[in-house]
Amino acid sequence: PLSKLSNVGTTIFSQMTQLANENQAINLSQGFPDFPADPELLSLVDQYIKKGFNQYAPMGGMLPLKEEIAKKIEKSHQAVYHPDTEITVTAGGTQAIFTAIGTLVKDGDEVIIFEPAYDCYEPTVELFGGIVKRFKMTAPDYSIDWNEVKKLVSDKTKLIILNNPNNPAGKILNEKDLQELISIVRGTSIFILSDEVYENIVFDGRQHLSVCKYPELKERSFLVASFGKLFHVTGWKIGYCAAPKNLTDEFRKVHQFNVFSVNTPIQLAFADYMRNEENYLNLSQFFQQKRDLIRNGLSGTSFELLDCEGTYFQAVKYDKISDKKDIDFAHELTINHKVATVPFSSFYKDKLNENVIRLCFAKKDETLEKALENLSKI
Ligand code: GLN
Repeated sequence: PLSKLSNVGTTIFSQMTQLANENQAINLSQGFPDFPADPELLSLVDQYIKKGFNQYAPMGGMLPLKEEIAKKIEKSHQAVYHPDTEITVTAGGTQAIFTAIGTLVKDGDEVIIFEPAYDCYEPTVELFGGIVKRFKMTAPDYSIDWNEVKKLVSDKTKLIILNNPNNPAGKILNEKDLQELISIVRGTSIFILSDEVYENIVFDGRQHLSVCKYPELKERSFLVASFGKLFHVTGWKIGYCAAPKNLTDEFRKVHQFNVFSVNTPIQLAFADYMRNEENYLNLSQFFQQKRDLIRNGLSGTSFELLDCEGTYFQAVKYDKISDKKDIDFAHELTINHKVATVPFSSFYKDKLNENVIRLCFAKKDETLEKALENLSKI
């Protein structure tokens, strides 16, 4: 093969967004808001650009931002990270994930992932010579049988990748899940990469349980978060990785040759903006209203709603409507009914088809209402 990823196609998110655009369909596929960010945040960025903060940031990130991140983590999860030596600002969650995997995974190392799995994990592990072991979570409840997970562990297991809350299933880990995980890694040298980019979007009064809340997990974890999700600016591509100093030191050895550092004026703007907690504390409430709008709108239809505990994605089963494969059904919905979604089979290596599609509800109410109008005619 020409390249290490010759067997990999274009991500489903790019594919479906392109199909949506070609068909002038309402795009509930790729996860990004269609409403503007807070003008106050935009104006802060503008001010920093005009003040001349336009050169390289320090490799690990701007200190004022790292300080605010450390405060936020301590406040939300009662976990302490040293701002300068344990937090690295990255070009989005995906780069943090890539860098963490690149830091740890060597030829022949085994990495455990949970499917449905966000699409970048597996190719990145492969790129670095790792071998993926999968635990499959399935509809309708996507729960984890930890005894089965235990069977995947071997003396070659280097890393377990978590995605909590889970994209696309909208499922969050509970206390029992985390205790099971602790019992699996205790006494081993297994590391954890915890992709928590939707940590601030959890519903019905649930609490997000970060790995950093648990000292036995924190000491071996790379914790990844995203400002794109926090502040509705996915196109700014800024996130961060929090990890103990010994892990951060190694992470930065890769980071420095990957992106070196990320956007200076936006980091400074985020730091100022984050000082006011009001700017992100009500995110769950904000998205819960949108989740409920889409759930109520679909409840009288033949689409079957699966649980949505967190993230801005609603999973629906359509087997009462069609027996087509999810990828074909998603194409049909986009072309004929003008609503683009993401088929769940894209998140499984073996393309498991359970007739489930993912709808992104990070959209203006009017966008969701238009989509519901089309979907309820089916
Ligand atoms: N995280 C977004 C989603 O799940 C996609 C980001 C991307 O397109 N790379 O839809």
